[in-house]
Amino acid sequence: MERIVVEQAQLAIPCHMSRDPSSSQLSDLADCPVCSQNLADIGSVADQEAHVKHCLEGGSGTTPQTAKYLVYRLPGESVLIGVECVICLEEFTKGSTIARLSCLCSFHSACLSSWLQRGRSCPVHAR
Ligand SMILES: [Zn+2]
Ligand SMILES: [Zn+2]
Ligand SMILES: [Zn+2]
Repeated sequence: MERIVVEQAQLAIPCHMSRDPSSSQLSDLADCPVCSQNLADIGSVADQEAHVKHCLEGGSGTTPQTAKYLVYRLPGESVLIGVECVICLEEFTKGSTIARLSCLCSFHSACLSSWLQRGRSCPVHAR
C-alpha cells in the first residue's frame, strides 16, 4: 500500500472552536490528502468521507491495487484520542502518529507498518 503523509497544515485543528459531536472521524482533515480538494466544499460529512475513501482507493482511472493510506500526527482535538489500536491495544494519544486506511480503520503508523510486512490488508477487515 502507498503511504501518504499528511502535513499538520492539512489538518483541520479546531483550536478556536469546539468540535461538533456529530462530525465524522474524517473531520481531522481540512483537505483531501490525495487530490487536495477542500473538504468543506464537497458537502455533507458523508459526502466528504465518500470522497476521501474513493481517492484513497485509487480514484477513477487507476487500478484498485494502488490503495493508499494516510499517516499523520493526531491533533489534540481528534476524535481518535482514547480509541484503542487493535494491533497493540494501546490508546491513541495527542501527537500519536497514526495510519488511517481507506476503510477508516486507524492504527499506530508503526503498528501498521509491521503488520503490512506480514499481510497486505487491514488487520480488521482482512479475510
Ligand atoms: Zn480527493
Ligand atoms: Zn498500536
Ligand atoms: Zn479496516
